[in-house]
Amino acid sequence: MKTTSYQLRCYGTEPEPVDHKLRSPEGSELLLEVEFAGVCHSDVYIKEGYQDLGDGERIDFAETTMPMPLTMGHEIVGRVVSAGPDADPALIGKRRLIYPWIGCGQCQSCHAGFENHCETPHTLGIFAQGGYGRHVVVPKSRYLVDIGDIDPAWASTLACSGLTVFSALQQLMPVKPGSSVAIIGAGGLGLMAVTVARALGIERIVVCDIDDDKLKVALELGANAVVNTSKAEDGPAMLRQASDGCLYGVLDTVGLPSTANLAIASVMKGSRIVLIGLQGGRIPLPLPSLPFKALSLVGTYTGTLGELKALVGLAREGKLSAMPVWHREMSCLCDSLSRLKQGKVVGRIVLSP
Ligand SMILES: [Zn+2]
Ligand SMILES: [Zn+2]
Repeated sequence: MKTTSYQLRCYGTEPEPVDHKLRSPEGSELLLEVEFAGVCHSDVYIKEGYQDLGDGERIDFAETTMPMPLTMGHEIVGRVVSAGPDADPALIGKRRLIYPWIGCGQCQSCHAGFENHCETPHTLGIFAQGGYGRHVVVPKSRYLVDIGDIDPAWASTLACSGLTVFSALQQLMPVKPGSSVAIIGAGGLGLMAVTVARALGIERIVVCDIDDDKLKVALELGANAVVNTSKAEDGPAMLRQASDGCLYGVLDTVGLPSTANLAIASVMKGSRIVLIGLQGGRIPLPLPSLPFKALSLVGTYTGTLGELKALVGLAREGKLSAMPVWHREMSCLCDSLSRLKQGKVVGRIVLSP
């Protein structure tokens, strides 16, 4: 039997559809037919082949263990179509969300349940073949999460953008009573962060972006105030004002020098800044400002399987508002990546084969 996947054959080029023989699942593996695959900004960086570190330095993906050709796509909902001899055949026919941040299973992080911190990861769509195609293979049934009757297209986005903001927001908990949390960036991550922050009971949420259309959606999803930083002469003053002078936490979903500096200049003493955006660059940081302001500056990377299950639990209880999803054919993958790069997407693009 044949299948099709969109393969990136060389960094800096476009992924192309390739027909190839469908592999039967072995051992504990399961084969899923892809129904929905969310398009993440990380795929734009992977396609380009590098991550900007600032000052002319970068991480070159050609020097990592990423396979080539690579089928990207790590936000996947699919239906199990066959099971290896050691996998549970009862799963065949079931629709599941895939936890893609699969670790080696051998190291201390993996044993402790932090597969997203594994030093030799097998992440689907990044270090192993992912969901931009008709089929995907998952090594074990434990990576399949039951989404019940929530919208499966939107559910796919929980595997990366949802999980990333859920795990990052845990770093801000508990929020000091009466204070605000700012979310910088109202792209796929930022809008998801608004709805997850609401579900976690964060009372005052301020969202910053440079696009009024995206800020409007942030307000609809439950933000208390928004700041268009492109129109602000003094961004930190505007953000402090929108936060009633009590900005305790910032979630930076952009990760540029300008957004990190905005966060550092705006927070009150004893606050926390969590960085998840990967746009790149570097900032000079006066070290005494960390102890003087009792400031915690942390980064988080996706989340654990347990956190994804907790997040799906919130969604199944109806506690998350679905952010806008633009449902497209998988043949629109290249166009979707280019729109994402240009910042033209409100919400998340989800592709179907
Ligand atoms: Zn992602
Ligand atoms: Zn590991």
